[in-house]
Amino acid sequence: MTNIVILGAGYAGLAAAVQLAARTRRDDTVQVTLVNASDRFTERLRLPMTATGQDVADLRIPDLLAGTGAGFEPGWVTSVDLAGRTVTLDDRKITFDLLVYALGSVADTGAVPGADEHAYTLNSFDDAAVLAARLAGATDVVIGGTGPTGIESAAEIASRYPHLTVTLVGRHEPGAAMGPKARAYLQAALDRLGVRTVRAEIRKVLPDGVHLDDGTLPADLFLWAGGTRVSPLAAAMTTDDRGRIVTDASLRSVSHPFVYAIGDAAAIRQPYGIMHGTCQGGMPTGVHAAVSILRELRGKPAKPFRFGYYQTPVSLGRHDGVVQFTHGDDTPRRFSLTGRLAARYKELATAAPWPTYRRMRRMPASAAFWPHGKRR
Ligand SMILES: Cc1cc2nc3c(=O)[nH]c(=O)nc-3n(C[C@H](O)[C@H](O)[C@H](O)COP(=O)(O)OP(=O)(O)OC[C@H]3O[C@@H](n4cnc5c(N)ncnc54)[C@H](O)[C@@H]3O)c2cc1C
Repeated sequence: MTNIVILGAGYAGLAAAVQLAARTRRDDTVQVTLVNASDRFTERLRLPMTATGQDVADLRIPDLLAGTGAGFEPGWVTSVDLAGRTVTLDDRKITFDLLVYALGSVADTGAVPGADEHAYTLNSFDDAAVLAARLAGATDVVIGGTGPTGIESAAEIASRYPHLTVTLVGRHEPGAAMGPKARAYLQAALDRLGVRTVRAEIRKVLPDGVHLDDGTLPADLFLWAGGTRVSPLAAAMTTDDRGRIVTDASLRSVSHPFVYAIGDAAAIRQPYGIMHGTCQGGMPTGVHAAVSILRELRGKPAKPFRFGYYQTPVSLGRHDGVVQFTHGDDTPRRFSLTGRLAARYKELATAAPWPTYRRMRRMPASAAFWPHGKRR
């Protein structure tokens, strides 16, 4: 019996679990176990909705795995013993032969002094629910970080609570990596929603404001969306300068080849550089790890993982958005979608992966299942 344990049931870990289950359904020499902090699947893309009091689907991981043969262990991973091939959850240990490490990332509140103490985050459903409760009584909301998470959060908050003062602060202008048309649309939409954008470095977060280089902004609520960090558990393996597990071309840890690292927690090199964290890229890494593991078990050589980006979708409230289509290296193409069509596209193409997981339970997919798999 080969025990395969998958740590983390986010976009990447869940893809690995359902694909391994689909491919080993009739193989009683392989046991797949998925471990996650909670039995709820957190749709991180929808956390700005939860944070603004909107209902989102209650998706349960055991429901998805029912009938697949894969087991589920709820619990918080506190340590990984690679020499003993054992993982410790809150109160128990589980052993493994092969490990898939998919513990994702969280907002890096250590990046700015004071953020650990005073910032809200969108790390989990519970964090978003706490923010929702607090937003109702807020006046001045400041969001740190002008990347997609910051933009989507600012737009969602401003459209749900038009009486609030919402300020989006970051080093770069919103949509800096997009083409001129998409960027201009994004800025106009934020203006329409009354979101003030400030280009500045946040130096310190205080209980009632944020220090910038040239003054202080009042804030009775500060949301940090200015970058991510990964769990210190990854440090048991070779990591890059951001603490992510360095993988070989088939997604195995370079220091511990019986560990596959996927999603945000992995530093996966492609010809254009190290992949950055997205569910767009995370799901194919999960599928590829499943395929590689089965090839390994059957004594076949693993194939290299190839991935090219194809879009940056940003929602601007529920009925507006921008989708910048990109080259494989994430640089913008000329083509973008805006407005209602973009909001609908995001909803259909990226924001609701659950139907994809359900399909994948029965149907072995490959990383080429995603349209970008071959196009780079
Ligand atoms: C608000 C927001 C909007 C986003 N929008 C987009 C978008 O439009 N498009 C896009 O491609 N990407 C988007 N992203 C990024 C995307 O969500 C991440 O890249 C993706 O979630 C990474 O998937 P993952 O499986 O690696 O990790 P995660 O989804 O973070 O999953 C990790 C899992 O591991 C669990 N876990 C972590 N530590 C432990 C532990 N010690 N013990 C047990 N369980 C643990 C967590 O609870 C979680 O379930 C967005 C992110 C945010 C926050």
